[in-house]
Amino acid sequence: MIHPATELRLVDAVVGHGVFATAPIPRGTIIWTLDPLDRVMTPLEVAALPATLAFDMERYLWIDRHGRYILAWDLARFVNHSCAPNCLSTPYGFEIAVADIAPGEQLTNDYAELGMTPSEILSCSCGALTCRGYVVPGQAGMIRSQWASEIEAAVARAASVEQPLISLLAAELVERLALRPGIAALAAPRRRGVRTGRLRRRPRRSARPQLHADAPTAEA
Ligand SMILES: [Zn+2]
Repeated sequence: MIHPATELRLVDAVVGHGVFATAPIPRGTIIWTLDPLDRVMTPLEVAALPATLAFDMERYLWIDRHGRYILAWDLARFVNHSCAPNCLSTPYGFEIAVADIAPGEQLTNDYAELGMTPSEILSCSCGALTCRGYVVPGQAGMIRSQWASEIEAAVARAASVEQPLISLLAAELVERLALRPGIAALAAPRRRGVRTGRLRRRPRRSARPQLHADAPTAEA
């Protein structure tokens, strides 16, 4: 589940939609963690999916550190890539804000670090000063090393900020990191009823289809 203070917005015609903060989200806040509504699949299960789902699989699935394919049921699958991301995954299974995120700011992560299939090559024009120009899974080790101190600092700060997603974490992890719930999580009324409106699905990974025929195929 993605942090509740987020919403889907159109970035532009090229990028499509992205996920934006609707309230300040301080560094150290857990942005996403697996919840029971998310779909977790093995590579064999993904390979057995009908070919008609290929487009959505390519757009919305990602691979976690355990090699499992994840399909998020909520806005998490619309988070865009940036070579200077404000959210990154942690060894604890959740994704965390590695920078203070202001209302109206887009949440981003690094697809190379998050999990890509071995053959994927994405061109990138994210606009970051540190834009790598392309994203391949072989960059994951470099990215994790580069961001290790920021991730560690963000996790260390997790105990001092509100964590609206705390109820989705294992009790042992909550205790180990001394996390505390967010006020919104404590006060939010339980919603009843079923919403019938559907989000119009748009490509989450705008950069993904823009494959460079001449892009490097090995780690930079
Ligand atoms: Zn970039």
